[in-house]
Amino acid sequence: MRSNFAYDTDRLVQEDQTHILHPWGDLGEPASRNPMIIAEAEGVYVYNSDGHRMLDGIGGLWCVNIGYGREEMVQAIADQVRKLPYCSNFGITATPKSIEFGTRLAGYTPGDLKRVLFTTGGSTAVDSALRFVQFYFNSTGRPNKKHIITRNYAYHGSTYLSASVSGKPGDRGNLDFVTDTVHHLPVPDPYRRPEGMTEEEFCDLKVADLENKILELGPENVGCFIAEPLLASGGVIVPPAGYQKRTRDVCSKYHVLYISDEVVTGFGRLGEIFASEPVFEIVPDIITSAKGLTSGYIPLGAVFISERLYGEVSGEAARGKQFANGFTYSGHPVACAAGLKNLDIIESENILGHVRDLGNYFIESLSKLEELPIVGIVRGSHLVACVECVADKKTKEPVPASFDIGNRIGVHARARGLMVRPMGHLAVLSPPLIVTREQIDTIVEIMEQAINAAVDDLV
Ligand code: PLP
Repeated sequence: MRSNFAYDTDRLVQEDQTHILHPWGDLGEPASRNPMIIAEAEGVYVYNSDGHRMLDGIGGLWCVNIGYGREEMVQAIADQVRKLPYCSNFGITATPKSIEFGTRLAGYTPGDLKRVLFTTGGSTAVDSALRFVQFYFNSTGRPNKKHIITRNYAYHGSTYLSASVSGKPGDRGNLDFVTDTVHHLPVPDPYRRPEGMTEEEFCDLKVADLENKILELGPENVGCFIAEPLLASGGVIVPPAGYQKRTRDVCSKYHVLYISDEVVTGFGRLGEIFASEPVFEIVPDIITSAKGLTSGYIPLGAVFISERLYGEVSGEAARGKQFANGFTYSGHPVACAAGLKNLDIIESENILGHVRDLGNYFIESLSKLEELPIVGIVRGSHLVACVECVADKKTKEPVPASFDIGNRIGVHARARGLMVRPMGHLAVLSPPLIVTREQIDTIVEIMEQAINAAVDDLV
């Protein structure tokens, strides 16, 4: 608890309710559900406007990887604002920081993904990647390769196209989407595989889903497959072992481009800067990134494109062809300065090694929650996990939405000093990567108490 806070919470709440339309806000929420006003933060902790301290079990929005209040970041950002607070990256214009950051990032990317296109965040990275695929096939005389294959429960963003390739059922109401060229496969969720099927057989089935869809549409009509290595916002669904590699192989077989959306999994969350190759043994054609790219200190996104693809649409043959895509803040110099310092911190503190050391402990410790009657499964990898609440462990029927179980767990956890991310009957955890073993113990302890308290509410 911080006692020296001078925020007027009542006034902030009242003004928020009067004037602010929250992104992803539920417009039907009762006014009694006050906004949660986070005023300050330090290390792995955030403080609400009344000074109540909470361990940030969600790392902002799975983005504050190096933790809060890093003085080195403050300095790097301030220095850049002083030198050059803004410059576009359009056309031939560049800045020392965007060049330096892009070059440094290319040292980490797998295979020949050495061409960096900066954007403003994850949605614009995904959107730009998909538009680059269109540009690539249009420019190389294959304009029919327009179809995009994605998966149910994927989350790729909130622009028109990135939202269209997302597939969380709860997000589909009341908005319009691109439907004629976007195709959703069933989710590769091993927890809900058919009764009696092994995980290997389930993997065969999910790989066949992709191959069959490509054949149904005709390989000559399919441009790309987009996939998060694990489906983060969809409930931290980790596909069966080998799925990523085998789906990548299917894409190569049919000349379908593979976009690996590493907006969540990149920058240390799975113990690597990019998880695609070291963790999942794939070299995609394109990788999208954001969030941990700057640890959320300043918004930034990036698309990493294979030199082979870039080579085919650049140079003499492409003279006069413009890739007409970009944003005022693409590759913002202050964001790139923050990204460079973020990388310095990740490297100098061996944060990747820390995540690799602690990852198993995090998942195994949380797995004890499966002993609770309402917890169907705890799943995840390294420092990202999800607790799924079920009404019946045998049928795996989710706790009904009317029980509001995720939000109840969230409220009880916050009261005990832990922020979790409620999503329906799920509670998601992705703490800053600097979290310690002791803090993990605290997370698990509070989660157990919060789940029990949420169940008590219902009886
Ligand atoms: N892709 C993935 C996998 C994400 O999880 C997200 C956001 O959560 C996005 C893309 C969109 O990123 P942003 O919210 O920065 O636009």
